[in-house]
Amino acid sequence: MVDRQSRRVFLRRAAASVVAAGLAPHHALGARRESMTADTRSTDQPKPFFKTRGVVIVPDDIRTWNWPDQAAKAGLSTIATHPFPRDLEPFVKTDTWHAFWQDCQRLGIQVEHELHAMADLLPRDLYQKDPSMFPMDDKGRRLRSYNLCVHSKAAVETVCENLTRYAKLLRPTTGRHFYWIDDGKPMCRCPKCRDLSDTDQAVLLENHMLDALRKLDPKASLAHLAYLNTIEPPKQIKPNPGVFLEWAPISRRFDASIARRDAGDGHHGKLLDTLTANLDVFDPSHAQVLDYWLDESLFYRAQKPPRLVKIPWNRDVFRKDLELYAGLGIRHVTTFAVKVNAQYVKQFGEPPLDEYGQGLREVGRSTAPSPP
Ligand SMILES: [Zn+2]
Repeated sequence: MVDRQSRRVFLRRAAASVVAAGLAPHHALGARRESMTADTRSTDQPKPFFKTRGVVIVPDDIRTWNWPDQAAKAGLSTIATHPFPRDLEPFVKTDTWHAFWQDCQRLGIQVEHELHAMADLLPRDLYQKDPSMFPMDDKGRRLRSYNLCVHSKAAVETVCENLTRYAKLLRPTTGRHFYWIDDGKPMCRCPKCRDLSDTDQAVLLENHMLDALRKLDPKASLAHLAYLNTIEPPKQIKPNPGVFLEWAPISRRFDASIARRDAGDGHHGKLLDTLTANLDVFDPSHAQVLDYWLDESLFYRAQKPPRLVKIPWNRDVFRKDLELYAGLGIRHVTTFAVKVNAQYVKQFGEPPLDEYGQGLREVGRSTAPSPP
């Protein structure tokens, strides 16, 4: 176990390379990259540094494309489903799912579920019974459509009961669970909640949710999603060590590495500061980056009107991103790949899964500073 003082030293060192990478990428991480190439040539298939090499997809992608074969061919470790428990509940009862599950077992691919969950964990029809379970807005109204009041005991208990039910149905093969708050939606502003940030409210809830999961599996862990309104680290609520960081930089650019602090008029620098600040609270060795390199659904939505487009893949940007993440001690990396399916392949040919998997197997193997 890495103690806090050693982690600070490690993170200071890692943060220094982030700064250096932002100012002069060829000087800092570039030099390490050259030595890595030499090292990997002389080694006989060392284990990848990145333990999780994943993709996150939706049922329609599983239905129409042979994801297990494609993932295995690219050397990926993990396929996770998305987006809502209510979609997955009927899907995991279908023959398509059973065939998918068996293929993943045969090929050694881990299966997880990464879900926007709160609207399902606290059923919305309970609003009629007890509006105080639901979040209050700035004007004092209780809102039905998303999230919850984390100071409502009844709400937290209901969330934990439904979590237990879903966790039995949607079993991850890794023990890692992902039941996020609703997508980018605010948390509660009631008098008891309002002094806690959205992040602190999420962590307070996640500590309770982890307790519920550990009754099913003492080794279970639960993701804390740092994203949009929860991208800043918790300040007042300490996460249980079984709650791990999942950092998702949805507003990043794809024509410049996340290591380029100046990209997007300094936006990457601000994003990176949220990552390093979160890594001061959460254990880097369990942290996961949820990136968007292969997220056709993101590129689709960016078109006016929305339409399928070729993924703007840039191998060099991707590998520089991985060098940065490895340098911070992050060993779990996944990407959304929603809408990468038969329709996409028909229109644009094979997606760059091979280069994605190759990067995740090669980068960081002999270069990342070992956590002390
Ligand atoms: Zn509240």
